[in-house]
Amino acid sequence: MSPVINSKQPNAGTTIFTVMSVLAAEHNAINLGQGFPDFLMDEELVALVNAAMQKGNNQYVHMNGLITLRESLAEKINYLYAATVNPETEITITPGGTYAIFTALTTVLQPGDEVIVFEPAYDSYIPTIEINGAVPVLIPLTFPDYKIKWELVKQKISSKTKMIMLNSPHNPTGAVLSEYDIAQLRAIVKDTGIFILSDEVYEHLIFDGLQHQSMLRYPDLLERSFVCFSFGKTYHCTGWKIGYCVAPAALMSEFRKIHQFNCFSCNSPVQFALATYLQQKDKYLQLGNFLQQKRDFFANLMQQTKFKALPSYGSYFQLYSYDGISDESEKDLAIRLTKDYGVATIPTSVFYKTNTDNKVLRFCFAKKESTLEEAVNRLMKL
Ligand code: GLN
Repeated sequence: MSPVINSKQPNAGTTIFTVMSVLAAEHNAINLGQGFPDFLMDEELVALVNAAMQKGNNQYVHMNGLITLRESLAEKINYLYAATVNPETEITITPGGTYAIFTALTTVLQPGDEVIVFEPAYDSYIPTIEINGAVPVLIPLTFPDYKIKWELVKQKISSKTKMIMLNSPHNPTGAVLSEYDIAQLRAIVKDTGIFILSDEVYEHLIFDGLQHQSMLRYPDLLERSFVCFSFGKTYHCTGWKIGYCVAPAALMSEFRKIHQFNCFSCNSPVQFALATYLQQKDKYLQLGNFLQQKRDFFANLMQQTKFKALPSYGSYFQLYSYDGISDESEKDLAIRLTKDYGVATIPTSVFYKTNTDNKVLRFCFAKKESTLEEAVNRLMKL
């Protein structure tokens, strides 16, 4: 008798990002689906990685990450958010943001625990909660402005609530948390044992002069938070798969117990390079403007199509409504646009457990202007 796996994810298909990227490649479509830039990253950072390799920095670094990189991060966190984070005990370098989120959830969750998740939610959150035997408690964001209904959050909190998951700037909507949201959150978690998982991989990609509301700014929130970041999204090298998690020492020490037997330690030359590169503040401070210009360039061109933009205040993404253009589901339209018009997008319904379909598609505008122009030329035909 051959062995049969009792699936931990019986209902899971393949992640939409891979599905749409494969379809885009098959049909030679412009890929505005999966979130990755098509322009070159900074050569200076590439040169620093080369130099690190040539100098022989090719063996394991400490399992928690190269200490000079963690020190550079602690300095940056202090500069940006006025938080004092101990690089020895409170920062761990991870192979990407998704891994940091997976590890933090696995660190905290016990079977039966409840986790508050706002929908639309990034596609890894709910499966990761379920893999750990915990239960996602789903709260829809308002449509079309994607705000949190805090009254509903209060109602959904129970004695089993172990964690609240936040994501700002938000994927897929580009919504951002405001000071009002933070005040509500502080009031709700005060005097509770609720943890926070904050996905802040787009921390620098925030527009219109808005300030990123990091958990790192608020000591009473940070004391219960795992905050996850991505160098790939920040420095336009998503394929490097490198990120980090920040959490108070007691939480981080448990996180590391899981991390050490999974990835153990991350790519070392990249860490040597980043430790140096992070010293240059302008490299990350200018990113918001750079992406804002792309958002505006694309939005301006999209006015020539029938799509209607929903606001995006951050991230790589903007949602566009096709209400009034087609009655198709988001998935059907996304597939047809890829096959027949040569432009791949992401249907937003995949970010809802019950596939709520508001007739909006997610477009990634982190692309060269020529790519965005060609995509809009094609979309104008719809
Ligand atoms: N975060 C990226 C996105 O939203 C994709 C990452 C991935 O493909 N896993 O498109």
